[in-house]
Amino acid sequence: MEQVLIIGTGCAGLTAAIYSARANLKPIVLTGTMPGGLLTTTSVVENFPGFPEGIDGYELMMKLQKQAEKFGAQVKFGNVDSVDFSKRPFTVVVDGEPVEARTVIVATGSGHRHLGLKSEDLLEKKGVTYCATCDGALPMFRNQPLVVVGGGDSACEEAMYLTRFASTVYLIHRRDQLRASKIMAERTLAHEKIKPVWDSVVEDVLDPAQNKVTGVKVKNLKTGESHVIDCAGVFVAIGHLPNTQIFNGQLALDEAGYIKTFGGTRTSVEGVYVAGDVADSVYRQAITAAGTGCAAAIEAERYLAAQE
Ligand code: NAP
Repeated sequence: MEQVLIIGTGCAGLTAAIYSARANLKPIVLTGTMPGGLLTTTSVVENFPGFPEGIDGYELMMKLQKQAEKFGAQVKFGNVDSVDFSKRPFTVVVDGEPVEARTVIVATGSGHRHLGLKSEDLLEKKGVTYCATCDGALPMFRNQPLVVVGGGDSACEEAMYLTRFASTVYLIHRRDQLRASKIMAERTLAHEKIKPVWDSVVEDVLDPAQNKVTGVKVKNLKTGESHVIDCAGVFVAIGHLPNTQIFNGQLALDEAGYIKTFGGTRTSVEGVYVAGDVADSVYRQAITAAGTGCAAAIEAERYLAAQE
């Protein structure tokens, strides 16, 4: 039986692993489908304390993993099918195999929100993407007009990044004001290659019949009129959804699907702790995820000590 089972290898999960490993609890850390978490899809992380020059997101995650492994954490590739937190020890089914654990730290993070269009699904990876830093440099996007959907920091970051490759970047936002931080919004709107398309939503991505993106049909919400913007790629950056499907019915979730906390990193089940974006719809930063990962590990350690 495991002492500490950590689900997720983003900033939260790996920081929890460092702390639990240093407490000699030999944590098992399950990667899920995205080892390293969402940060591995970012280019330079400029706001993680201790890296004045910035650090590549992937490199940061590799360093965290190495640090956790150095103290005895075991990172295992595996996807959780289901969990049973109704009795102790807890059971987590990983790729069909049940694993028992005395404590569990949930650090499953969040995934990209989709527009919810059929054409979007049909053209995913054929011009529709959720990550400019992963896909922006592909030959199909070079010197082409591209579309970014969204008005937050992510959308601005994606749009700025794509200016390196695109002929023009259309930033389509459903309101007439960006949600992004002031500095980011100003920088984005000042860029000569970025053309904002205000008060507008994407109604359809063209053209599934050609099996590639040729444009988007955009509706102006104020005038009700629609028109087509020609483009070779659509980068959707409209926020995130917490990865909590497997915890439905096992842990208390809020209306938006985030795991509810009951003081610090405690969940509705004693012995199960939560860290990072899966319980955070507000801050969602690498450093806050790392901070809660640390807190969750300390909680798990104290819980185990109290049981002895
Ligand atoms: P966000 O701040 O929640 O912004 C999502 C954007 O998408 C909003 O502008 C929203 O419009 C729009 N949107 C949501 N659902 C939509 C839909 N169905 N159709 C069309 N548009 C839709 O998400 P985010 O940009 O991913 O940022 C999340 C957090 O990470 C924020 O705290 C942000 O500051 C942080 N972040 C920081 C950095 C950085 O500091 N470098 C980079 C990226 C993210 P409305 O504005 O109308 O709601």
